Amino acid sequence: MSPNTFKPSILLTPGPVPVPPEVLEILAKPMEHHRTPNFEQVFARVRENLKTVFGTKQPVFIHTSTGSGAMESALVNTLNRGDEILSVVSGKFGERWADMAEVYGLKVHRLNVKWGEAVDPSEVEKALSTNKAIRAVLTQACETSTAVVHPIAELAKITSKTDALLIVDGITAVGAVPLPMDELGIDVLIAGSQKAFMLPTGIAFIALSSRAWERAKSANLPRFYFDLRKEKEANDRGESYYSTAVTHIRALDVVLNWVQKRGMDFLYKRIGALALATREAGHAMGLPSFAKSPSPSLTALVLPEGVDGQKVRANIESKYGVTLMGGQDQLKGKILRIGHMGYISNEDMVTAIESIAKALNEQKAGTISDAQISSALAIVKRVPQ
Ligand SMILES: *Cc1c(COP(=O)(O)O)cnc(C)c1O
Repeated sequence: MSPNTFKPSILLTPGPVPVPPEVLEILAKPMEHHRTPNFEQVFARVRENLKTVFGTKQPVFIHTSTGSGAMESALVNTLNRGDEILSVVSGKFGERWADMAEVYGLKVHRLNVKWGEAVDPSEVEKALSTNKAIRAVLTQACETSTAVVHPIAELAKITSKTDALLIVDGITAVGAVPLPMDELGIDVLIAGSQKAFMLPTGIAFIALSSRAWERAKSANLPRFYFDLRKEKEANDRGESYYSTAVTHIRALDVVLNWVQKRGMDFLYKRIGALALATREAGHAMGLPSFAKSPSPSLTALVLPEGVDGQKVRANIESKYGVTLMGGQDQLKGKILRIGHMGYISNEDMVTAIESIAKALNEQKAGTISDAQISSALAIVKRVPQ
């Protein structure tokens, strides 16, 4: 067997994120069967506590898939063959969802938004009033490829007055941005384990409003693995329909117990403070935020003209042991994306800021001055822990 050459790195990507030590510990416990009284207790507690995170009285379901599985589940459980939908496309994840919907034969109207900007709710309102056949609006809450947060509350006000469901990819938003589903009127909300939940990649979450459940009863897109009707029946008996990701769910239990004890605000505050400090530190170094409406879950910093951003990112990782993400497609080499979710200390942020400055100066001497570096570092050191 060839050795795993993994070298630990400070993981500041918008998912996967650093996992807290207490969670790593529980992940190392021996396997148990999912149909046992002990595990069923954990499973029941987790499903109850997930309702707090989602801000809903409706059941929250766990899929053993990455977030994209939940994106697919949202479509197949609520829509019919040939349905018309409006898909907000403001970056890579919006593109993925619209493409996925087309694969299922949905008639997709793409509402293209300039990368870096949030969707204008009046555009959605206009699209829905000119085409009453639209059955659903799909949008990211945070478009991770551009670090933009969309105005979900405003969108929900609009969709609640129509027959269109509001289906929200909250994968980098749930746990980072308050999105109380019932209060806002979101019809479908999805999330993924490797983002604000601080878990390894591998499970995803989905909840449906009562109006989405009405649709789910008779929706006729093909669905088998992700059929939430079967899952609901099983959950109502205290079981899962398929085998459950026992190790992930035991780890989720640890995270949700903290959330129950400390409240969601504790997560929002820490993530929000890291985001604000990163934007300010970027500004201090002459690296502005790319997003006009920046999400707290991650920050995209614009690199100076003429810098090879792909090389900078690679050097930050190989020389300084900090993993950041670059830009995709039209943003390739132009931005650095820094995640704020997960188990991140201020020291990690100090290392990250220092490495960004060093790597930029190595490529083009004098890009960032010593004075700029020290003011940026002072900002991240001050973040409330
Ligand atoms: C991470 C992410 C996803 C899910 O991606 P997977 O790789 O399938 O987990 C979906 N949408 C957004 C906005 C994301 O950030």
